[in-house]
Amino acid sequence: MFKLDSQTALLDSFRPKDRTLVELPSDLTFPLVVKDYVAWTHPAGGRVFVVFATPGGVPTGIAFDSNNGGGMPSMCSWCHTSSVGTGVGLLVATVNGKRRAGVLVCSDLSCRDKLEEAANRSGASVRPAMEKLIARIGQFASDALKIDLSGAGR
Ligand SMILES: [Zn+2]
Repeated sequence: MFKLDSQTALLDSFRPKDRTLVELPSDLTFPLVVKDYVAWTHPAGGRVFVVFATPGGVPTGIAFDSNNGGGMPSMCSWCHTSSVGTGVGLLVATVNGKRRAGVLVCSDLSCRDKLEEAANRSGASVRPAMEKLIARIGQFASDALKIDLSGAGR
C-alpha cells in the first residue's frame, strides 16, 4: 500500500518522457491511498496507465500504448487469467528512444478484479496472488523497461 498526496505526486511516479502522455483520471481524489496498484485508461482510448509499488520501492508509473490489435484468446502474463475475445491484449511501453517493449496482459489492467473474483470463488486469500502480480509488474518495469524501482535516477 502506498499514498500519493497530489496529482503532482502521481505524475512524478512516471518517467519524465512518459509524463506528457499521461491523462490523469478525473475521478481520483487526493491524497490517494493505493492498495496494490491503480490503473486507468485514457478517456480517448489508446492508452492505459498503471501506478504500482513493489515492497521497498517507490510508486512507479508506466504509460502503455494499447493500440496493438489483440483479440487473440490468450493468458494474461501478469494475473495468469485466460481470456477469450479482447480481454487480453498487447500493451507496449517505451524503453529508450525508439526501443519499445510489450507485454501480453489484460488490456484494461483489471488483473486485480480477476484475482479477487478467483479468490472469492475459491474462498482463498487473494494476498499471495496479488503479491505475485505486483512482483510481475515490477519485473516487467525493471527488466524490460529498465526502470529503477528504488526511484534512483528519476
Ligand atoms: Zn491480468
